[in-house]
Amino acid sequence: MIEPSCRVHVNWEHFRHNIGILMQKEHELMPVIKADAYGHGVAKAAMELERLGIRWAAAGTLREAALVRESGFTGHIVALLSRVPGRDDVALALEKNLVPLIHNKEGLHSVQEALDGSSNTLDIAVKVDTGMARLGFPLSDMEKVAAFLAEHTNIRPLVQVSHFSVADEPDEDAYTAMQCDIFYRAADIMHRYFPDMRCSLGNTAGLAVQVTKKDDICRPGLALYGYDPMFGTSREGACKGLLPVMEVSAPIISVHPLHKGESLGYGRAYKAASERLVGWVAIGYADGYRRNPAPGTCMCVNGTRVPVIGRVAMQMTCVDLTDLPVPPVPGDIAYVLGGPGNAVTAQDIATWWDTIPYEVTCLLGKNKTE
Ligand SMILES: *Cc1c(COP(=O)(O)O)cnc(C)c1O
Repeated sequence: MIEPSCRVHVNWEHFRHNIGILMQKEHELMPVIKADAYGHGVAKAAMELERLGIRWAAAGTLREAALVRESGFTGHIVALLSRVPGRDDVALALEKNLVPLIHNKEGLHSVQEALDGSSNTLDIAVKVDTGMARLGFPLSDMEKVAAFLAEHTNIRPLVQVSHFSVADEPDEDAYTAMQCDIFYRAADIMHRYFPDMRCSLGNTAGLAVQVTKKDDICRPGLALYGYDPMFGTSREGACKGLLPVMEVSAPIISVHPLHKGESLGYGRAYKAASERLVGWVAIGYADGYRRNPAPGTCMCVNGTRVPVIGRVAMQMTCVDLTDLPVPPVPGDIAYVLGGPGNAVTAQDIATWWDTIPYEVTCLLGKNKTE
């Protein structure tokens, strides 16, 4: 891959700080580092978790889980995105001591076939569908699942998992309560056969609002990276003191005046109503910096916010530098995300892009080079 013109900097000190904040909720944690740790880098995230003494981690695919293991993480690693495991997958899970998530009978039978006649025991996570209607066994299947596992003793349910759909929305508390009810009814069935099986239901929002049982393992994702999934709701701030982990900068490569009446960029989308000083920053939609931001979108130059103007191009974006006390020169740095001063947050960008901070860090994080 050709090195991108923008730079992603990941502040692992802030990552550690955020985990410290989440630990105050006194739940065991299974930090979610799927999708390359939401763009921040899964291998380094795994090393940080190990340093902090964390004993559970959740990756995306089984290959990603293997990478977490290879990075030196010694705890349990659940692969949240397990497809129907083939023989290769089961072999990999056994070799690296990974925990595939089994969420349907195809997966269950496939694991059983792969283990048939072997003396190995595979730990699995059992997913119950409590209302997301995405992955998982329905509650009505749990007797059968539990009986099947009791019969096939070389498949061991280490943890039962489900996922909230609306725990970040106070208006939807009844739905979240219903999800909890289904989850713990399923767990009651499983616990009759497997009393030591752990439970893991809460995401960041579930952890913040403390809706799950005390000995549950919680799976925060977004908060690790410094953002509040309850932003904009009455519950905003339920995890206080989080610090943003990702910063993205790009060099300013051209600075020039734009005279009154002149236009710039594709479609002539910006026209100068007065004398302006403009700069082109080397980041564009090819770098995941989206093409259609809302009016009011900013970057940060020398600690001050400057407006994005005109149309975002494939590898370049224009900013209006007129109001800066010291005019920048080519070679100066613009911060698209984070940086010193009045920094832009992933929440700001999410608002400008009409999305959520999760998508912002996933997209911009793809430009990482280190
Ligand atoms: C992504 C994910 C999480 C983390 O959710 P956040 O909202 O980022 O805290 C937890 N559990 C599952 C199954 C997930 O897919």
